[in-house]
Amino acid sequence: MRVLLLYPLFPKSFWSFEKALELVDRKAMLPPLGLATVAAILPQDWEFKLVDRNVRGISEAEWEWAELVVLSAMIVQKEDFLHLIREAKQHGKRVAVGGPYPTALPQEAQAARADYLILDEGEMTLPLFVEAVQRGEPQGIFRSNGDKPDVTTTPIPRFDLLEFDAYDSMSVQFSRGCPFQCEFCDIIVLYGRKPRTKDPGQILAELERLYELGWQGAIFMVDDNFIGNKRNVKRLLKELKPWMAEHGYPFRFNTEASVDLAQDQELMDLMVECNFTAVFLGIETPDESSLMLTQKFQNTRDSLSDAVDSITRSGLRVMAGFIIGFDGEAAGAGDRIVRFVEQTTIPVALFSMLQALPDTALWHRLEKEGRLYSRLTGMNQTTLMNFVPTRPLEEIAHEYVEAFWELYDPLCYLERTYRHFRRLGAPKCSSSHRKVSWASIRALLTICWRQGVVRKTRWKFWLNLLGVLYHNPRVWEHYLSVCALGEHFLEYRQIVRDQIETQLAEHLATQAVRETQVDAMTAIAR
Ligand code: SF4
Repeated sequence: MRVLLLYPLFPKSFWSFEKALELVDRKAMLPPLGLATVAAILPQDWEFKLVDRNVRGISEAEWEWAELVVLSAMIVQKEDFLHLIREAKQHGKRVAVGGPYPTALPQEAQAARADYLILDEGEMTLPLFVEAVQRGEPQGIFRSNGDKPDVTTTPIPRFDLLEFDAYDSMSVQFSRGCPFQCEFCDIIVLYGRKPRTKDPGQILAELERLYELGWQGAIFMVDDNFIGNKRNVKRLLKELKPWMAEHGYPFRFNTEASVDLAQDQELMDLMVECNFTAVFLGIETPDESSLMLTQKFQNTRDSLSDAVDSITRSGLRVMAGFIIGFDGEAAGAGDRIVRFVEQTTIPVALFSMLQALPDTALWHRLEKEGRLYSRLTGMNQTTLMNFVPTRPLEEIAHEYVEAFWELYDPLCYLERTYRHFRRLGAPKCSSSHRKVSWASIRALLTICWRQGVVRKTRWKFWLNLLGVLYHNPRVWEHYLSVCALGEHFLEYRQIVRDQIETQLAEHLATQAVRETQVDAMTAIAR
């Protein structure tokens, strides 16, 4: 069987970093790890080609070569995902789909005429699909009926199918699931609340494979909560530490974790000793009442600003997610988030309006209360909320746009980044794999030119760089790479403003028409 694996386009988003990627001559931040894993689970006597549409287009020869097209997508990739199903059908191909988007909304993939729906986790449903194909069945829906696979049997992803030069970072997954119960979270719906981890040996084998294939540099541990099972993650880190030292620290890791990381110094130290350099925290809001309402209790136990400080001082740069629009939220939430981000010096703060994702506890509550809008929107930082909030939508949208604008003002961003790196603990590892490429020299010169000569940031840029070189010299490259991300945010804040304001105007116009119609009906009824 000749299988063409396709990964749909992402729209421009907070995480797409086009401007920063252009600087280092890369096409995308992360590869499609899910499809590389699918290729490893399917029979190895099948042939595979993988095309990531965020990297390049599909050639006519590839369409002709394929006997089966396999697509995986998240909700944000919806538009291109549906387009690719239609294109594959026009080429007369059988189409199989899986991943979080078809699992959450299978009816949309069915309506687009996908033949096979391989839903839930592939370790359980791909074998059912293979059996159906071998029996000659032309279509089918494969579900795991609530069962979760044991990920210790998941094979090493087919990293060899990826075009390494196109990516800024590789990805590896250690665990699935999270023990917490945040109301808006779809991770616990898709992967459950009992974290399942791979064995340390599996992860080392995956890293060894990436190393053999020549990858060096960043690796994102894509776990939604890397520390969901602290005992197992410490077992991994204790085996990873000597492996990294023996190999001369070829990789630096980033990941996502819950805020309770700050309560475990041993865990933070182990992460830093394994060359973890940054961690993404779901902080969501400094408003305790909103955290309680959304059942993010773990963020209310200790001071959030102390937690960020402790993680930063341990040597892990903090990135964090923030959300506006919780039920019962008092006016001024946007300002409170900006103040919190400035106080804790978090350079990269992912900020969004609350969205109800399909099948989450939030989705079901809003559905019961009749507050969900029927159409599912793009679900990223440029979309309005998909439900009726408890305070006026205009007020939330206005606060959101203004806070986003302020957070990514070039001078504020530069200054916050500098203050963060002054607090950041010194790294404990030094890599013997330092590659100085023409692309990295060009990126460095471009940043120095734009932020150190052209913009109003010029004095601060040089003063801050000297400060970092003096106080924490081993992080200067890391510092400049975070400064480079500011290039993306500068453009993206304008996109957020334009798109949110346009959608808000459309929303208000539709609402006005509806109100006029209701008034007219009431007048007729009288
Ligand atoms: S901590 Fe993060 S992954 Fe875990 S339930 Fe909450 S939002 Fe989801």
